[in-house]
Amino acid sequence: MTVLVIAEHDHATLKPATLNTVTAGIACASGDVHVLVAGANAAEAGKAASQVAGVAKVIVADSPSLAENLAENVAAQVLAIAKNYSHILFPSTANGKNVAPRVAALLDVAQISDITKVDSPDTFERPIYAGNAIAIVQSSDAIKVVTVRTTGFDAAAATGGSAAIETVDGVADSGKSSFVGREVTKSERPELTAAKIIVSGGRALGSAEKFQEVMAPLADKLNAGLGASRAAVDAGYAPNDWQVGQTGKIVAPQLYIAAGISGAIQHLAGMKDSKVIVAINKDEEAPIFSVADYGLVVDLFTAVPEFVKALH
Ligand SMILES: Cc1cc2nc3c(=O)[nH]c(=O)nc-3n(C[C@H](O)[C@H](O)[C@H](O)COP(=O)(O)OP(=O)(O)OC[C@H]3O[C@@H](n4cnc5c(N)ncnc54)[C@H](O)[C@@H]3O)c2cc1C
Repeated sequence: MTVLVIAEHDHATLKPATLNTVTAGIACASGDVHVLVAGANAAEAGKAASQVAGVAKVIVADSPSLAENLAENVAAQVLAIAKNYSHILFPSTANGKNVAPRVAALLDVAQISDITKVDSPDTFERPIYAGNAIAIVQSSDAIKVVTVRTTGFDAAAATGGSAAIETVDGVADSGKSSFVGREVTKSERPELTAAKIIVSGGRALGSAEKFQEVMAPLADKLNAGLGASRAAVDAGYAPNDWQVGQTGKIVAPQLYIAAGISGAIQHLAGMKDSKVIVAINKDEEAPIFSVADYGLVVDLFTAVPEFVKALH
């Protein structure tokens, strides 16, 4: 049983989500783990994938049709080699979730979504009800199409492997969609899903100006990603892509600092797997304290600036 992992990459480098997905792949495999790098001029990303520990073979599909990650084209590329595999694993990222259902539907199998554990090659665990219950899912499909919640698996070592690299022809453009443009938010700060430290603010911040004034200096001092609760995002205090939680990003950094966030289950669903959680809230009954390793029952408008001052 050989497992195929679909790499998340920018053609030159691998995105960290690929490494967690490889670990999940190794857990499913009784045979080898292969990685597909579907891209354009993606030899560098292919080389990076070949160095990942535990990968036996990298397949680089290179074509202009794969330059912009159009889901129809990437799905066709995966389908071109799908029959060689018992499992096809995608990271549960926006890209992975865009392609995996197409592959599952065209193979006429059920997709197994957002797994956090592999119990055996046909049995997987996945959170449901915002992480309040874990479903154990068994599949009898010949090819298992799976998306992997990356916070559920450690990253495979990015170096140490020496996989063979095979180059295959990329698929032709499907003609079903075309790339129009991309608006990318540029930030000096680490990307939320890859950040080692995240500083998050909630509704208590009161305004976009206060959010910046109070939270940004702490994030700067710690070289942290900035996150927010949905209430803070809905109120316009923070941009949409900062939202952490069930309907935002799922994160598991080494350190998560939540300031003025009550800890609703939908927020906890996105951050409770963080290694160390610090909560700053003036209400000692706030549910965030139930998952916090360190809790400060104080006014954040005094505590956070003091914290920043204390950091050298
Ligand atoms: C289907 C669904 C999906 C959802 N998805 C998400 C999601 O992805 N992410 C998410 O975050 N939420 C999500 N929510 C919303 C969630 O239920 C909560 O409403 C939201 O998380 C609350 O945000 P908050 O903690 O910032 O605000 P509040 O619940 O209003 O909490 C504010 C906290 O700040 C504290 N506080 C106030 N002033 C201060 C001060 N000066 N100093 C210190 N502490 C202070 C208060 O004690 C309080 O605990 C979802 C809800 C639904 C129904």
